[in-house]
Amino acid sequence: MRKQLAALVLLLVSCAGAARAEVLIRLPREARFAVGQRFDIRVEATRAASTPPTQQAPGPKIGRIELTLDGVRVPLPAPDAWGGATARAVTLATPGPHVVEAAAFDAAGAPAGTARTTVTGVAVAGDGRKVKNIIFMLGDGMGAAHRTAARIVARGYAEGRAQGLLAMDTFPGTGMVMTSSLNAVVTDSAPGMSSYATGSKSPNNSEGVFPDNTPKAKDDATGAFDNPRIETIGAFLHRTQGKALGIVSTADVSDATPAAMGANTADRNAGTGILDQFFDEGVAATGRLAVLMGGGRRWFLPAGTFGSSRSNATDYALPPGTLRAWGAPDGALDPKRDLVREFREKGFAYATTRTELVDAKVVTPSTTKLLGLFALGNMNAALDKVAKRRAPDRPGVVDRFRAPDQPMLDEMTRAALDVLSRAPNGFVLLVEAAHIDKQSHAMDAERTIWETLEFDRAIAVAKEAADRLGDTLVIVTADHECSGFSVIGGATMPTEQLRALKPEERMKAVGVHEKGGFPTYRIAADGYPETIDPDGKLLIGFGAGHDRHEDWLAEELPVIESLNPEDLKAELLAGGIPATPAERRPERERGVPLAGQAPYYVGLASHTATDVPLSAYASGSLAWRGFVGVMDNTDVFFRMLAAVSGGL
Ligand SMILES: [Zn+2]
Repeated sequence: MRKQLAALVLLLVSCAGAARAEVLIRLPREARFAVGQRFDIRVEATRAASTPPTQQAPGPKIGRIELTLDGVRVPLPAPDAWGGATARAVTLATPGPHVVEAAAFDAAGAPAGTARTTVTGVAVAGDGRKVKNIIFMLGDGMGAAHRTAARIVARGYAEGRAQGLLAMDTFPGTGMVMTSSLNAVVTDSAPGMSSYATGSKSPNNSEGVFPDNTPKAKDDATGAFDNPRIETIGAFLHRTQGKALGIVSTADVSDATPAAMGANTADRNAGTGILDQFFDEGVAATGRLAVLMGGGRRWFLPAGTFGSSRSNATDYALPPGTLRAWGAPDGALDPKRDLVREFREKGFAYATTRTELVDAKVVTPSTTKLLGLFALGNMNAALDKVAKRRAPDRPGVVDRFRAPDQPMLDEMTRAALDVLSRAPNGFVLLVEAAHIDKQSHAMDAERTIWETLEFDRAIAVAKEAADRLGDTLVIVTADHECSGFSVIGGATMPTEQLRALKPEERMKAVGVHEKGGFPTYRIAADGYPETIDPDGKLLIGFGAGHDRHEDWLAEELPVIESLNPEDLKAELLAGGIPATPAERRPERERGVPLAGQAPYYVGLASHTATDVPLSAYASGSLAWRGFVGVMDNTDVFFRMLAAVSGGL
């Protein structure tokens, strides 16, 4: 009773004093930063102290916020309209714990609330051997089963033994990576890659930033570009060691994985602003970005041109000086911008086809800066690119996507490494095989496996280059698993017989355990299977799939993925390319109905929280030994930095 009275008195006293606000320091729990790595600290004091954290409720008007790091004042601007202020480009000078404290004062100068947290500085420098170059190979969505399926198809098994290894299987360092994001066990590709790129967790759909309370405006993405930033490995190693940055992907280059190395945003879909950042910060302000290759020409074309996706809704314009401490411009709403012209004016060679990339006319032995944009949106999957190469005179899927002459990922990787090997202080190169994820989402087993084969061929190129260049670390991993991909067995009958089965009889073809045997594929000279549906083919299940019909045969057509310009999507739809896996073929031809487990977008499989494998290789050192065991995705960032800084 006395205790309750005392509490009541305390409550009355605090109510009678200044209005209270709950003060938040927007740094995640257990935040770690490399010594010298830049990051922002945002303090928010908007909510009344009694409001649940999920609700926005007006607190007292905040007049001033003070921030200290280890007791030393960090300059902060005046609170913004949302009661917050952000200290930009802060660094930790020493390893170990550091105390961050904030205090908010109301408009009359009375204390309104305080907050305190600790962050940890991580030492990465040392006097060990320094790796010069990092090649980071990211198989988007690639779990252990994707690798197993690719190995079975590419190398074959006999009496229980693999008849060869994938290039990635030969790497000596093997680990497992935990992939969760700041706000979910199941990450998407944005924080998935960003954790490797920054060493910090971001929430889903964000890359290289922490959350904040500033909303996104209706007609532009500004609120997604002012979030507290974390410096990416490419930016940090260019600023401190002069290393060049390369980004290569089979996706639209605005997609989450490439953008996590070239931009900082809370909205992975804000492509106009993302590509403006690639140029404004990566090229104009710093010159760190030396190679950019993939799809996504739609962001480089002025609005109004066929295939352009530039718009104010996906762009940003920040209050003047917001990012001054980062040496970055404020951005501008500029849908008519011509980024191809701007890249070329900065000395970039520009290739739009495979021929231009490899014929030594556009990309020459002296090229040091390279822009390659081979499709309007995502590049096509390996299966469709190879089909066109095998029958160049027949109209193919790639023609319908208006990109008939696209390079394979190994060709892009070779070109990128040729260019980057001319960078005097070394480089960081990201190579992404995006369709492992995209085709797993679409539950398209063949396109997924072929993309994994394409990825492995690129890994072989990277390993060869590492041996040639020396002192190069090659990491192969994934941002997360996609689709609950599982190798369930082999077809029990020849394909002709399978094809003749009625849709509802198709489960008869599923051979598990000894009935599946050893599926055998013949590999053509180009490195891919001679045929997509050999007799006794490998069968794949999708544990995180949505409802679907399965006929156990390859899909003739891909689906239209979201990352394509609207006018091209309309053209593809009109031409009969299905928008979703569920729309692929008429109901009667579709095969046996399977009930899905994951209510993701209709017809699409979702990511899973399964740990992903990591394979590490190093030429000239034992740096791969830093990448064994079970790791958090953020650990990989610090180990890569330590490898190039002598601290491993
Ligand atoms: Zn995905």
